[in-house]
Amino acid sequence: MSVLDVLTYPRATLRKKSGPVQKISEDVKSLIRDMKETMYASGGIGLAAPQVGVSQRVIVVDVTPYEPEQEPFALINPEIVSSDGDVESEEGCLSVPGLVETIKRKERVTVRGLDEEGKEVEIEASGMLAICLQHEIDHLDGLTVVERLSPVKRGMIKKKLVKAARNQT
Ligand SMILES: [Zn+2]
Repeated sequence: MSVLDVLTYPRATLRKKSGPVQKISEDVKSLIRDMKETMYASGGIGLAAPQVGVSQRVIVVDVTPYEPEQEPFALINPEIVSSDGDVESEEGCLSVPGLVETIKRKERVTVRGLDEEGKEVEIEASGMLAICLQHEIDHLDGLTVVERLSPVKRGMIKKKLVKAARNQT
């Protein structure tokens, strides 16, 4: 297992739509192990494969710091099949360090996907789990919290982040 580098905004991989996993190979299982280790090492509650430079539809989630009754899990090819209600919450992202903004989400979501063994699972989520799932699935579609901001705020923050990235290199 290894801790992978987490890409930060505005890296191109973060803004690309990821493709579905065709087969849960040893490579995919090893990616999941590394993603979990990376999530824990970074203190995150979720991580999506594009954040470690892999454009495949794989996410790992562990919201136990907020909801201790939930089990950590990985989900392959996750899809939101239904949602309802609206909620606003403060979100941060490992790929957008320093940014914490209020983001609008659905209050409840039902998500379908495959577990690590390739078994179909359906998760009915509310609370932090619902928000985390929407956040991670957004990453698979090339969206970060930056794209979820209002246009005015997005413009301001994008400028700041691009400038900060330029100063780093
Ligand atoms: Zn994120």
